[in-house]
Amino acid sequence: MTGCGCPREEGGTGGPFSKGKELVEFVYYAHGGTVRDKPIARGALDIVCQGCSASFTLQTYVGKCPACGGVHAVVPMNPVAENVQFAGTDFTLP
Ligand SMILES: [Zn+2]
Repeated sequence: MTGCGCPREEGGTGGPFSKGKELVEFVYYAHGGTVRDKPIARGALDIVCQGCSASFTLQTYVGKCPACGGVHAVVPMNPVAENVQFAGTDFTLP
């Protein structure tokens, strides 16, 4: 992984280009945890739960499926449905 030009954060594996649980944790802790409960700036996203396939609306950058409690998150810089990541069925927020 040399020469790609990507900045790497020291001491952490998460980042805005992570997938799954890593991305969810990145957004959860971003800016000291002030981002996760903010409404998505470009509007709520209608998504399908990646855990139980229920349709629901993600209102904030980190949100839970009302049916199964599965945690989903999207990065603030590009909050579109395609970028929503699912933390996994065994993940619960701290
Ligand atoms: Zn679900």
